Amino acid sequence: MAACIFCKIIKGEIPCFKLFESDKTLAFLDIGPLSKGHALVIPKFHGEKLTDIPDEHLSEILPIAKKLVKVTGAENYNILQNNGRIAHQVVDHVHFHMIPKPNEKEGLG
Ligand code: 5GP
Ligand code: ZN
Repeated sequence: MAACIFCKIIKGEIPCFKLFESDKTLAFLDIGPLSKGHALVIPKFHGEKLTDIPDEHLSEILPIAKKLVKVTGAENYNILQNNGRIAHQVVDHVHFHMIPKPNEKEGLG
């Protein structure tokens, strides 16, 4: 979708700090991290809400989120996925947040 920020990131028209890429999935650092290592995992298929995405474009999402958790070494973390404004969705391209929750003494989070 032409106006979608995440579709532009997929096409390389907007830069991002890439963590993983395959033909179906892209993972990159969130531009406004809630904690160190806050990542977004998105399907390379434009759809606003989870129910708009075909299953075959979702199959890698959780395995990749799991790998990112392991890389950060986080013992505490949130995997979040917002659908609709009332549910706090701001970017209308399905995305999964992986938010490590460091110990208080480690700062952010
Ligand atoms: P939502 O509230 O829609 O679930 O979260 C959207 C997320 O996308 C936010 O955490 C926001 O910081 C992130 N975001 C918005 N625009 C950009 C961008 O251009 N680049 C990156 N890397 N993240 C973005
Ligand atoms: Zn999109």
